[in-house]
Formats: sequence, structure tokens, C-alpha cells
Amino acid sequence: MAKFVYDFTEGNKDLKDLLGGKGANLAEMTNLGLPVPPGFTITTEACRYYLEHGDRPEGLADEVDRHLAALESAMGKKLGQSDDPLLVSVRSGAKFSMPGMMETVLNVGLNDESVLGLAAQAGDERFAWDSYRRLIQMFGKTVLDIDGDLFEDAVEDVKRAQGSDDDVDLTADDFKALVDRFKAIVRDRAGRDFPTDPREQMDLAVEAVFDSWNAPRAVLYRRQERIPVDLGTAVNICAMVFGNLGMDSGTGVAFTRDPASGQQGIYGDYLQNAQGEDVVAGIRNTVPLTELERIDKASYDRLLEIMETLENHYRDMCDIEFTIERGKLWMLQTRVGKRTAAAAFRIACQLLDQGLIDADEATRRITGGQLAQLMFPRFASRVDGVQKLTKGMNASPGAAVGKVVFTSERAVELAGRGEDVILVRRETNPDDLAGMVAARGVLTSRGGKTSHAAVVARGMGKTCVCGAEELDVDVRGGQFTAPGDVTVREGDVISIDGTSGDVYLGEVPVENSPVVQYFEGELSIEDGGDLVRAVDRVMAHADARAALRVRANADTPEDSARARRFGATGIGLCRTEHMFLGDRRQLVEQLILAADDQERKAALDALEPLQKQDFAGIFEAMDGLPTTIRLIDPPLHEFLPDITELSVKVALAGDKATEKDRKLLEAVTRLHEQNPMLGLRGVRLGLVIPGLFAMQVRAIAEAAAERRAAGGDPRPEIMIPLVGAVQELEAVRDEARAVLAEVGESALIGTMIELPRAALTAGHIAEAAEFFSFGTNDLTQTTWGFSRDDVEAAFFSRYLDLGIFGVSPFETLDRDGVGRLIRIAVEEGRRARPELHLGICGEHGGDPDSVHFCHEVGLNYVSCSPFRVPVARLEAGRAAI
Ligand code: ADP
Ligand code: MG
Ligand code: MG
Repeated sequence: MAKFVYDFTEGNKDLKDLLGGKGANLAEMTNLGLPVPPGFTITTEACRYYLEHGDRPEGLADEVDRHLAALESAMGKKLGQSDDPLLVSVRSGAKFSMPGMMETVLNVGLNDESVLGLAAQAGDERFAWDSYRRLIQMFGKTVLDIDGDLFEDAVEDVKRAQGSDDDVDLTADDFKALVDRFKAIVRDRAGRDFPTDPREQMDLAVEAVFDSWNAPRAVLYRRQERIPVDLGTAVNICAMVFGNLGMDSGTGVAFTRDPASGQQGIYGDYLQNAQGEDVVAGIRNTVPLTELERIDKASYDRLLEIMETLENHYRDMCDIEFTIERGKLWMLQTRVGKRTAAAAFRIACQLLDQGLIDADEATRRITGGQLAQLMFPRFASRVDGVQKLTKGMNASPGAAVGKVVFTSERAVELAGRGEDVILVRRETNPDDLAGMVAARGVLTSRGGKTSHAAVVARGMGKTCVCGAEELDVDVRGGQFTAPGDVTVREGDVISIDGTSGDVYLGEVPVENSPVVQYFEGELSIEDGGDLVRAVDRVMAHADARAALRVRANADTPEDSARARRFGATGIGLCRTEHMFLGDRRQLVEQLILAADDQERKAALDALEPLQKQDFAGIFEAMDGLPTTIRLIDPPLHEFLPDITELSVKVALAGDKATEKDRKLLEAVTRLHEQNPMLGLRGVRLGLVIPGLFAMQVRAIAEAAAERRAAGGDPRPEIMIPLVGAVQELEAVRDEARAVLAEVGESALIGTMIELPRAALTAGHIAEAAEFFSFGTNDLTQTTWGFSRDDVEAAFFSRYLDLGIFGVSPFETLDRDGVGRLIRIAVEEGRRARPELHLGICGEHGGDPDSVHFCHEVGLNYVSCSPFRVPVARLEAGRAAI
């Protein structure tokens, strides 16, 4: 039979699937001999069973009984025992950390009798009643689903009556009174009494933690972070230790390195006489961890010693939750800490230098997403004419500009209309998640670097300034005030700098980040500082390891040159359609309206030299590197005037309508399509409009010849779009070859694979193609049978809600469907032509997950937008490690 419960002494850090991250690491710390209060973990498997069947699996109750009995005998007291109660926390803990998303209930086991026993044992009545009211509050909110504000408001009332704004000033009698009020709230709102039986409290709390897996904010967070929906959470039952036992007690969080910058040092927050969640909630302002040295030197020294043990053991930056109970230090949690992108690069290289990890491991620990973050623009260093409002803590880097909003709902609403917003709050809580996702940045007036806002924003890579204490935020009034009598209202534009903590009124201009300046060659490694050095080092290792090459999608000489500076090894997709716009539209019209071969030829002859120039510039920028040029792809009518406008014009002109307009309207009408995506486009155009493809091929060949004559080394490759049958390709290939031969140039000729039929008949198509490039945008559309432009607004969010896909298939390649077609095409294509060169040129070429897929199926290269090239290089290296 399955084992559903593990004592902390039984687990270890590698059992995260089963025990969740928190449980696995509590076990690991226990086994390292660190001071962890004893306890046990109920597995994710039990949770999954419960969520599926609405009931606990058979045998779970017995196992919990046995482990609880063992815990009780280890502690020498029983859960809720009236003269000397054992109290426990019931804590959620999934495989991937979801800060503050799920539930935890502390002080389980207190009731009207045991609170007296606790008071007597501790010799502290106030503490016991404070703990009791916290239990009812957390239990009411978490287990009984009562609005937490009701409890908060009651606390505020009592504080107001005392003329104080701090919990610390409340007395035992105040807390006793609160317990009565809280019980009344429970009775009123939940229609039942607060349960006095300790075991019932515990069992109900366990179920509530299970259920919290499916709380809306947890669902949203998982989608945002791409965490699978069906993992479930473990539940940790842990003997309570008390940080609220007086000024020689307290609770805190610590990082073994700065999670914002990666610098080594002592980082964290500490709060005296408090229980754990007080720190994270940002209710009271904490002191920096270094102050603990003054407050309690022995605990401080012990903590530093443990931090070093943990870093060496995990070989990574860790974050830690600890509590001090009357001078005794307890470890309550650790995990490999979330960090900013810059910190990730710095820490990986520091650990490499310390010999704790090797270069492969350092590269594995950094993601393409993190590199992308470092490439975001930042505020210009010289800021004139913009008013600085204040400086807060630099909680999560980046430069964000937007309109001020004060609620999550407004943030979502305005962002939905395409506006940039900054969410401004006193502090955030898990219910603000939707607003944080929608906002460009987050600004809070309270809470430290470990507050909810800071932790969540860092996890999302969202710009955040927190603890800007000079600001007075009035959410209800829809405004905040800053020093110097400045009032900022909803809708006013502010700029926040998550790297420095500065907050400005108005819009601050942005400039390239140092990492982009380095890629651009505007900043040398020497001048770039340790971050640029770390990036350079990791990139070099990734390039050395990568099997996939990275090309760029670029249509102009400028884009091509930038792609090359960013490390592209060629162009995987040069689109030619934009070369038919602007002034050249006239010529396209002539081509389409041509009455006979002669008129058509005249139009083509006029277009050719223009095309040739376009290609010459690109070949120059890409000298010595392969340049894949796709022949014209979109439906022809896209180059013609809008049918409605033209009809109106001709109708209004009546008899006076020009012959030209009339013929144009006739052509536009003839070419109008119900379903242009599936209409006359791609290779079909080449077959229907004589001379069009030949003109393009001639322009390519002549541009190449010209470059060669000038001493250059052009490497053109000609790519035919939207082929579904080998016969289509054969026809245009023969035409292209003839033209190339005439000019005396050569080029590889290949095709895009972007229709299911092409993938399914790839073995035949490969006989006529020297390369394949998977056009995964169209291939995704045609495989699913939906058009991207039409579906994203219409039903994608519903599909994401329903879990039909975890992420849009236009963002990350759908391995099961589209990926299967790619596998078939790769295998059958290579079987027919072993030297077949294979690449991908859809948007997916710059998506980390999709890059890994391309590596797995053995493509030769990925091609993506120039700006994504470094990300794809890094991921190509990581995929090969
Ligand atoms: P989260 O995952 O949201 O951090 P936790 O389960 O870690 O939730 O618990 C919330 C807070 O309660 C933390 O600050 C933690 O340190 C504290 N806490 C949890 N269990 C105990 C315990 N047994 N004794 C004292 N404090 C605890
Ligand atoms: Mg925690
Ligand atoms: Mg296409």
C-alpha cells in the first residue's frame, strides 16, 4: 500500500515531487542535524487523491494517527493537552514554491482550556491569548472561508480604542476580548462554532490546505509561472515554536546572498516578538538582519553558521525562514532562493569561481528568460525635467512607466485596454496577483525586500519598488502623497526604477541596458562590470556546448547587421513581401492588372532592380553567412486597395469613374478571399503568376553576382513557402534553377514545411528540397485549424482556464501535435536525403522551451528575431548540457 506520511527524518531534498519543496527541505535540514522542530509531511499523492475523489485515501487517517502519536511522544505532550498543549502548524508546500499562494494555519491545538495551559507553561498570558486569536483568525479565513478583513477590522477597532497603531501595545485582555469577537464572527459567518477539538482543527486544516491548491489565485499563479495544474500540494505538520514570546523572541527571513544583485553579504529582515507571517505580510516594519547581532549575538552567530552550511550543501543561494524562541534558534524553512536575473548570472559565476559548481552547472542554472530580462531597456542615466518623488527599496529591477492605479481590478481593466499601469499599494497580498500580472510595475509604501510584493515581483521578473515609506497611500481616496506636498492621483503617470528604487513623477526616457550595449559592441567587457562579464562567460560556454546554431529572421540590412552583432550565424528567414509595399505598390498593381504578357513583363522588369538592391544590402551585412530568402508569400490582394473603400469610390464617381479604378475594382473583387490564410498565397502565387518567382530569383542571383564581383562572399538560399506537394516544389525549383544557371550563380533551394501535408509527405518533398525550414506559425495554425489573429482574443483565455493548453501553442511549440508532425518530417526527410539541412523559422525559434524541442529532434538551427538571438544561443547551449 502507498505510504502517505513521512516523518521529517525520513525524507530528503530529492523527494520534492512527493513531499513538496518545503517538506523535502525540512527533511533535508533535519538530516543535516540543524535545529528543525519535529514534524511530518502528508504527500502530494494523498492531496491528488483527495482532489480527485473529494475524500481522503484509505489508510491516511491511520498513518496520521501513528505519526502524530510519535510526534507527541517525542515532544512529551499531546496535541491540545489542556495543562501543557502541543501546538502544530499545518503548512502547505508544493513542488514549486508559490509564495503566499496557498494556506498555512499556525497554533493548531488551542482552545478555551489549552490556552490557559499554554499561558501557565509560558508564564505569559498575553502571548497565549495572542496565539489563540491568531489561530481563530487564520482558521476562520483559511478553513472556513471567512473574509479576512472582518478579523483585521476587529483588530483595528481594538487598537484604535487603545490609541495605538501597533499590535505590540495590545494587552492580554485585549486579545481575550478579540478571541470572543473572533468566535462571534465565526459563528455568524460560517454558521458553526469554532471547533474546540484539537484533532478536528488539524484535520480540517489539512483539507483546507489540500483545497487551497485550486484557489483562484493559485491557479492564476501557476499559469503565469507555467507550473503544471495537477501536481497537488503536500501538507507539513510541524511542532510550533514561538517568536511571539517577548523581546528575546522573534522571527525573520534571510538570504545567503542578495537576491536582487547577487552580492555576497548578510541580507534579510527580522522582527522581534512576532510570529512568522507578520514579516511577509509587511504589517510591521522589520529591522535589517544585521541588527540581530546587537539584539541576540549568539543566535546571530549560529544563524550565519547555518547559512554557510546550507549554501555549501545546496551549492546555491538559499533563502531561509527562522524563528527565535527565548534565545533558541529554530529553522522553519529553506529553499534555493528566487533571485533576479542579474543575481542569477552573478551567483552562478561566483559559485563557479568558488569551485562549488562547474561551467555546465552554472549555465544550466540560468535561463533564457533571465537573459531576456537583462535585455530590457532601463532609464536613461541623465534625467532632466522630471521630478523625483522619493526612493524606496530596489526590490525587483527594471524600468517601468505607467499610469497610477490603486487596485488590482483597475490594473486589470486599464491594462486590458492596452494602457501601461503601475500598481501602487501600501502592501500587496496574494489577492493582488492579477493586478501585479497586468501592471508594468509595482510600488508599495510598506514592507521590505522579503515582503509579498517583492518576492512575487522578482519571481515574475516584474519591476518593483517597495517600502517607499515617505509615500502616504490612500487607496480609497485614489491618491498618494509624496514629500513636498505632491499629490499623485489615479491616472497620473509615474516612472519607477526597480534597480535603484527611485520613483519619479512623469515619464522618464529609457535607454539600452548594459547587456544590450555589450552585445551591440557599444560597451566593452572591461567597462561592463561584473554583470556583463558574467553574461559573456556564460554565453561563451553555451556557444561552445550548443549543437543547434542560431540564425535570425531579418528583412533589412540593418536588422541583419544587428543580428550578426548579437551572434546570429546566418539568416533563417528573410521575408520579401515588405519589398512590395510603399512606392512599389504601383508596380504590383500593374503586375496584377496586366492585360497581357508584355504588360506583365514590364511591371516585373521595373520591380527587379529594386529587389536586387534590397538583397545586395543584406548579403553585404551577412557576408560569408547563409541567407535564406523566402519568395513572396502573402495573398496578392494584400497589396491592393481595400475592397470596401474602392467600391465606394467607384460607386460615388458613377459614370465618371476612371477606367483604371474600374479595372482595379474588378481585380480586387476577383482576388477577394473568404479565407486568405488558406487562399492564393505562397507557392501557389508562383505557379499562377508567370514570371513572379523567376523575377525574385533573378534579383537574388544578380545581387549575389554583384557582391561576388565586389569581393564579397554571399551565401543565398532560396526558400519556397507553403508547399503541400512535391510537384509544386519541383515546378518552381526547375524554374529557379534555370534562372540561376543563366546568371551563373548557385544557391540551395529548399522549402518551408508549414502545412500538415508537407510534413506527412516530407519523404517525397525532400527529394526536391535541399533544406527544410519549419514555419511553425502557419504549421500551428493549420494543424489546429485556427487562425492566430482570430482566436487569441476570442477564446484563448477560456482554453487556458480549462487546461486545454497550459500555454498558447503560438508561444511554445505544441509538442504533441505540431511537434509530432515535425518529428515525422525530420525522420522521413532525412531518410530520403541524409544531408538535408533542417531549421525552424516560426516565432518559436526564440522560445526557450521550443528551442529545447528543436535540439531534441535534431534540427540544425533555429531562427528567431534579432533581439532574441542571445536567448536562443543560451538555450541551445543549455539544451545540449
Ligand atoms: P509560506 O509557504 O507562505 O511561507 P509557511 O508554511 O512557511 O507558509 O508558514 C507561514 C509562516 O509561519 C512562516 O513565516 C513560517 O516561518 C511560520 N511558521 C510555520 N510553521 C511554524 C512553526 N511550526 N512554528 C513557528 N512558526 C511557523
Ligand atoms: Mg514559508
Ligand atoms: Mg508561413
